[in-house]
Amino acid sequence: MANDTLLKALALESRVRVYIINSTSVTNEAIKRHDLWPSAASVLGKTMAIGLMMGAMLKGEEALTIKIDGNGPIGTVCVDAYPNGTVRGYVERNHVHFTNKEGLDDVYTLGYNGYIDVIKDLKLKDLFTSTIPLQTGDLAKDFTYYFMKSEQTPSLVSLGSLFDVDNTCKVCGGIIIQLLPNATEEDITYIENKINILSKMSDLLLKYTDLEDILKLIFDNNYSILEKKDVCFKCPCSKENFAKGLATLPKKDLEDIINKDKKAEVVCHYCNEKYTFSLEELEEILKGAK
Ligand SMILES: [Zn+2]
Repeated sequence: MANDTLLKALALESRVRVYIINSTSVTNEAIKRHDLWPSAASVLGKTMAIGLMMGAMLKGEEALTIKIDGNGPIGTVCVDAYPNGTVRGYVERNHVHFTNKEGLDDVYTLGYNGYIDVIKDLKLKDLFTSTIPLQTGDLAKDFTYYFMKSEQTPSLVSLGSLFDVDNTCKVCGGIIIQLLPNATEEDITYIENKINILSKMSDLLLKYTDLEDILKLIFDNNYSILEKKDVCFKCPCSKENFAKGLATLPKKDLEDIINKDKKAEVVCHYCNEKYTFSLEELEEILKGAK
């Protein structure tokens, strides 16, 4: 399978900014790691696609967390994305599957009675958190609302996902088109006229494996690419970091684990990786504990 890519571009004489992503492999990696059923995979896959595109709006060591709880069957959806094109994520309940006449029912799966939290770590003293109430449970519509409400940036967001009979992801990805302050009424009309094409995001991604062809389709030749990069599911967790976490436990708790279990197994929520600590390793950690 081809590498997942993200494209960042300017269009219409630099009056709009565009992010397009094909994150099919990212979604498949999440399916494998978390044993996701298609509805869970669709909602998490789309949230990771949005996360990666928003991650591309950051720089350096900055990072972004998206937390969504719509009080639907899937529970909480959590995604961390980084400007280097990596993402990780999980859902509270992985075995959910709901369909309607059109296919997977993402709105029912996520629910629409709750909030989206976007937490940005801009490597300053405090984290920036914006919270908006879910409007519809449709991620594309709700993130359109988010960009307007929290970032004062009029945006068009479209997301798509399709799954195969074996429950793997056939295609997943999306696009964000943002009006920059110098955008004109004509630009808005121009983009509005493309909504029909853009709303069929999964068809576009299936048809055009090169994301630049989607740019051409929408903007003709009136665009310039700023950045093109590979994206992937990657969790920065490590045994070393979990060891540091264990070292912050009260000494007594560590001693209990050592005496009773003789080993410890820690699982990373984000990527489902398991880390096992042997008796010797735990004793080493105990030496450094408070
Ligand atoms: Zn992890």
